[in-house]
Amino acid sequence: MKLSNNFSLYDLTRSQVAMRRNLTEQFTPPEPIVDNLRRLCELILEPLWLKFPNNLVITSGYRCARLNKIVGGSPNSTHTKGLAVDIDTKGILKNLGVAYYIFNNIPFQKLILEGSALQPQWLHVEIPQLNNNFERLIFWAEFGHRTRYHNLKPSEIWSQ
Ligand SMILES: [Zn+2]
Repeated sequence: MKLSNNFSLYDLTRSQVAMRRNLTEQFTPPEPIVDNLRRLCELILEPLWLKFPNNLVITSGYRCARLNKIVGGSPNSTHTKGLAVDIDTKGILKNLGVAYYIFNNIPFQKLILEGSALQPQWLHVEIPQLNNNFERLIFWAEFGHRTRYHNLKPSEIWSQ
């Protein structure tokens, strides 16, 4: 099923873990979640695809409750609602540069630089449940026994 010009439901639901464990519900999300995934594609992924064609890898989109639990996601993770996507980049493109592009060009609810503020291992991008509530919150996630989230001011990572 196509969600937008360049993305399909498969792109946003595929998961090796879910395949191996036969979590069939992972691949057939309820219609309200598919609607959220469509918005996620239109708002976040399509503009990124136009800017960075062939460089973006979706490492996690929608997660059914069972998959989310297995991968250690927080119980009310926005991934379970189809409102968040994790992206990584291939080639010479750096995740920090993509984060900067998102910050400057794309509406978002929350942007998380995962693992490091300066060399993020991947990016987590969220859209709001309601169309018009883009808070543009930026954090970096410090991995450890429990992940800690630190508020980031753009000036702290991107010098003028
Ligand atoms: Zn995420």
